Amino acid sequence: MKKYQLNNEQLPSFIDHLKKQGTVFAPHKKGDASFSFKKVEDPNTVILDYNRTLNSIKKYFLPPREQLLSFSKRDNSFQKGFIEKEKKIFLGVHSYDMKAVLKLDYNFTQGNPEENYLLHRKNSIFVGVSFTPDEFHFSQSVGIPVHNTEGFDIYLEKNTDGYTVKIITEKGEKLIDGFDTLGKAKDIATNYTQFKNKLKYNYNRLPEVFEQSWNAAVWEEISKKCVGCGTCNLVCPTCYCFDVEDNLDLSLQTGTRDRSWDGCMLNSFAAVAGGENFRKTLAERQRHRVYRKFKYISDITGEPWCVGCGRCTAYCTAGISIVEIVNQLCDIYEQKYLNRPAMAGLNAERL
Ligand code: SF4
Ligand code: SF4
Repeated sequence: MKKYQLNNEQLPSFIDHLKKQGTVFAPHKKGDASFSFKKVEDPNTVILDYNRTLNSIKKYFLPPREQLLSFSKRDNSFQKGFIEKEKKIFLGVHSYDMKAVLKLDYNFTQGNPEENYLLHRKNSIFVGVSFTPDEFHFSQSVGIPVHNTEGFDIYLEKNTDGYTVKIITEKGEKLIDGFDTLGKAKDIATNYTQFKNKLKYNYNRLPEVFEQSWNAAVWEEISKKCVGCGTCNLVCPTCYCFDVEDNLDLSLQTGTRDRSWDGCMLNSFAAVAGGENFRKTLAERQRHRVYRKFKYISDITGEPWCVGCGRCTAYCTAGISIVEIVNQLCDIYEQKYLNRPAMAGLNAERL
C-alpha cells in the first residue's frame, strides 16, 4: 500500500484538487455542536475532525424524498425522475458509515436490484478519515475498527502534523494523480484507540441471544420511555425502509410517484387497510427495530446490520441506548441459560 504525508496546511489545496475531479461532499459544522455532510464550496469550511454527522452519506444514495416518476393519465405515459450522473467524491467518511453503505449495497441488490439507488451510487469515490470514538460509538463491537479501510479508495489517518494518506485502490491512486506536494509518509505507528462503549458479547453470539429474547421484559420496559418519534430510524445509516405515494395534481390527470423515508418505530408503519396494525405497541416496534439490526438480516448474512455509529442513542428523544438494550438481553440470557449473575434491575423470570 502506498502512503504519503498530507500536512494540515495542505488540506485546502488537496480538497481543491479533488474538486477539479468531481463534486466533493464533506463534513461541515451545523449549528453549535453538530456536523453534516454537504457539498464543498469553500475547502476551508470542511471539518475532518468530528465525532459524527447528524445523517450519514446514505442521504445521497437514498434521498429522504425523491420523485421516482411523473405520469399522465391522458396518454397513459410516464417518465422516470432525473438522476444526475456526476462523479461524487465523499471526503472524510468514518469507517462505520462506509460499512453502512456496503450494507445498503447488499440490501438494494438482492432480489430486484433497485435502479434509483444504484444510479445514485454509481461514480462514487470514498476518502475515509480516522476518528476518536466518543461515549456513543461502539463500531468495534460489531466488527468495524476505527481504521477499517473496506470500501475506501483513500484513507486518511490522523497524525500529529496532519494525515497519513493511504492509497487503497486504483481509483484512489488516480485521485491523487497530479497533486505533487504530498510528502513522504512519516514512520508513525497506528494509534488503536479504545472504545468506551461496548457490546457485552461478540456480535457473532448475538443471534443466539436474540433467539431467546422475544419475550424479554426489556421491550416493555423500554416502551415506557420511548415516545415513538422515529428519530432512531431516520438517523440510522443502515435503515432503508421507505414509503411510496402517488400524488395527483388538481386536474386529476397528471401526477408524480414519490418516495420518502419511513421508519418502523412510527405507528403508521405497519398499519394496513381495515384498521389493522401488525405492530400496535411501542414494545413490539422496539423489538422489531432491534431484531432487524442483530437477528433477522444477520441470520442471512452472518453480520450484524448495525454499524455501531451510536446515532440512535446520541439523538434519541428519550435517552434510550441500543447498547444498553443489547447488553441487558445478554445479561438475561446469561442468567437464564448460562447461570451467571444478571445485572440488577431486570426480572429474568419474565423472559
Ligand atoms: S428515537 Fe428514542 S424515543 Fe424516538 S422512537 Fe427511537 S427509541 Fe423511541
Ligand atoms: S442501530 Fe443505531 S448504532 Fe446501529 S447503525 Fe443504526 S443508528 Fe447506528
